[in-house]
Amino acid sequence: SKAPVNVTVTGAAGQIGYALLFRIASGQLLGADTPVKLRLLEIPQAVKAAEGTAMELDDCAFPLLQGIDIFDDAGKAFEGANVGLLVGARPRGKGMERGDLLQANGGIFKPQGEAINAGAADDIRVLVVGNPANTNALIAQSHAPDVPAERFTAMTRLDHNRALTQLAKKLDVSINDIKKLTIWGNHSATQYPDLFNAEVDGANAAKAVGDQAWLENDFIPTVAKRGAAIIEARGASSAASAANAAIDHVYDWVNGTPEGDWTSAAIPSDGSYGVPEGLISSFPVVSKNGEWEIVQGLEIDEFSRARIDASVQELVEERDTVKQLGLV
Ligand code: NDP
Repeated sequence: SKAPVNVTVTGAAGQIGYALLFRIASGQLLGADTPVKLRLLEIPQAVKAAEGTAMELDDCAFPLLQGIDIFDDAGKAFEGANVGLLVGARPRGKGMERGDLLQANGGIFKPQGEAINAGAADDIRVLVVGNPANTNALIAQSHAPDVPAERFTAMTRLDHNRALTQLAKKLDVSINDIKKLTIWGNHSATQYPDLFNAEVDGANAAKAVGDQAWLENDFIPTVAKRGAAIIEARGASSAASAANAAIDHVYDWVNGTPEGDWTSAAIPSDGSYGVPEGLISSFPVVSKNGEWEIVQGLEIDEFSRARIDASVQELVEERDTVKQLGLV
């Protein structure tokens, strides 16, 4: 039988953690034949809550779950980690400037990057969920010089999934009929969900919609502002859907994307599509042999170009800020 995979989850006692851990333990993160050991990281005040979640995990008697350890020290939590899900982050407080937010997150993601560098397994794969996810991933990556840079990724899969459903509803088709949708750029309000290269039943999706006003005034803002709409409706931020997207991202990374389709993930740029090398930006990606590859050769029209550039510019500014703060 397969050796267990060590999965480290930070912010494990939070909302997303609560929605995520049970699905990891049931085999949905890696596959139904892969046993897992969970390593939960929390801040000291939240360790007790994490212990409560661990009791519930025990009570599920998951056949694939071979152990749960809880830590308040990043160095220990990442020892031997094969997968790192970096969920815990400093949320934006009232009146907090972007610089303050990045500074606070530097205090979390720098030591976690160092811990990954020092103790994670050679095949470590990192997904950053905690916001601002792309730049938090950049901070962690820059403190893990011995880990291949491409092992640090950030999540735009929730945006991707949100866009799939909005398009499916508009065209009254099934999710299965839609292929090759792309989220470009930052996981923020500037992100660009691209229908011009997407297909619906093999036909061009933007043409199938045939409604530029809907695309500009409805589709793009609905996808980009979905998080706020959920907070407004639910009284709490999206958690189960964020956990679901994290599962999708890692599952595809490890097991490969389906033939004839691609997905979206924020991965280090190699300069493709004019995105400055090294920025962790969302691209159309396929996964093969456990590695993400950027889909090449897509046509980018003027409308898309302007939106991709705006989101990438925001990432450049975030990177410049964390550089000035000495965090990367
Ligand atoms: P959640 O579990 O709801 O969210 C965690 C992070 O995920 C937030 O930064 C949130 O950003 C982000 N996120 C990314 N995408 C989404 C999305 N689509 N919807 C919602 N959130 C998204 O937060 P909780 O406050 O419930 O829990 C956070 C936990 O992390 C706490 O238990 C805290 O103790 C812990 N923590 C642990 C740390 C550590 O392990 N070292 C460090 C810091 C905190 P946003 O708020 O911008 O939506």
